[in-house]
Amino acid sequence: MNFDAIFESQLDRLREAGNYRYFADLERHAGRFPHALHRSGDSEREVTVWCSNDYLGMGQHPDVLAAMEQAIRQHGAGAGGTRNISGTTHAHVKLERELADWHGKEAALLFSSGYVSNWTSLSTLGSRVPNAVILSDANNHASMIEGIRHSKADYRIFRHNDPEDLDRHLAALDPALPKIVAFESVYSMDGDIAPIAEICDVAEAHGAMTYLDEVHAVGLYGPRGGGVAEQRGLMDRLTVIEGTLGKAVGTMGGYIAASASLVDFIRSFASGFIFTTALPPALAAGALASIRHLKASEIERQGQRVRVQQLRRALDRAGIPHMPNESHIVPVLIGDAQKCRRISDWLLEHHAIYVQPINYPTVPQGTERLRLTPSPHHGEAEIAALVDGLSELWSQCALARQPVAA
Ligand SMILES: *Cc1c(COP(=O)(O)O)cnc(C)c1O
Repeated sequence: MNFDAIFESQLDRLREAGNYRYFADLERHAGRFPHALHRSGDSEREVTVWCSNDYLGMGQHPDVLAAMEQAIRQHGAGAGGTRNISGTTHAHVKLERELADWHGKEAALLFSSGYVSNWTSLSTLGSRVPNAVILSDANNHASMIEGIRHSKADYRIFRHNDPEDLDRHLAALDPALPKIVAFESVYSMDGDIAPIAEICDVAEAHGAMTYLDEVHAVGLYGPRGGGVAEQRGLMDRLTVIEGTLGKAVGTMGGYIAASASLVDFIRSFASGFIFTTALPPALAAGALASIRHLKASEIERQGQRVRVQQLRRALDRAGIPHMPNESHIVPVLIGDAQKCRRISDWLLEHHAIYVQPINYPTVPQGTERLRLTPSPHHGEAEIAALVDGLSELWSQCALARQPVAA
């Protein structure tokens, strides 16, 4: 059997569709974000990164680096075991307490990543809560979809951000069945934000529990950076808040925050929590330092909001259309996989600007885009360079401009 031929033929189809994934070889330098060294063949040069999820640059914050360095020297490199078998260190215990407090919940539980936290928590809830039905927003992240599928629980997909459609689905189900509504606050690719209060109203009316992915919101919204639910005063209405330590927190790992009994339930039954090595203590220490900083400091959040506004205004002045939303994510729609790839390549080659093209299956075909994520560390010079580069490409590719606002 020629297995390589099977692999290569499928990869060829991906290339033909323009959806083959090329990874940029980057070297980030702490203190220089959003600049990084890009290597390609024999050449290496500095580029500006415009698509990082290290939204606030906390991955280079001195407090975070100091906490990680100190933890490595004090506790060594790895945790040395699963949480159950010698891998629970004091750093994990402290971080889980901090996370519970961040979201106003009784308890929290750490996982290897946000992906694992969604996958494992939803698959455990769906399989272990007898006769559970899961109601999932149509735009939910792959990690939730896979967890729901794996649970083998009955599920319904409700229209994106549509509480009325959710209500119709819930009303059609036997009132005696336990129901779980799974959705996100900030949706990563469009940057739109869920009507969380209305979804909670509907869920509560049907006695359903709510599971909110705040991965693109933790650290960024709310007076203590607790997410959109904190900003809107809704944390206590959500049964589970799920987040990542890999985006605005700047490190790595994922978690859920919920009632003590729900957390104990997942801790006790979730395969993806039980049978894997605990996060290194240094990661837990770094995440703790980052969260403590973000709870108290508005500087990063304010700086980011200013840069988002400046970028949007500069795009408007150049007539480059960008999708409107209330969040920090600035999607520039291209609508064609090949064009999106070429624009990204050209920006890198001729302008030393790195924006990864976002193609299918991450977004639907025909909605290929550049997803820009301004941080407090992107200055006016970087914004001007990006918009100049895009503007040149808009002319070259004969892409439609929007009327320039006065
Ligand atoms: C990135 C992402 C995750 C996964 O988080 P990681 O920590 O990167 O594994 C989960 N949900 C959403 C919506 C995401 O965008």
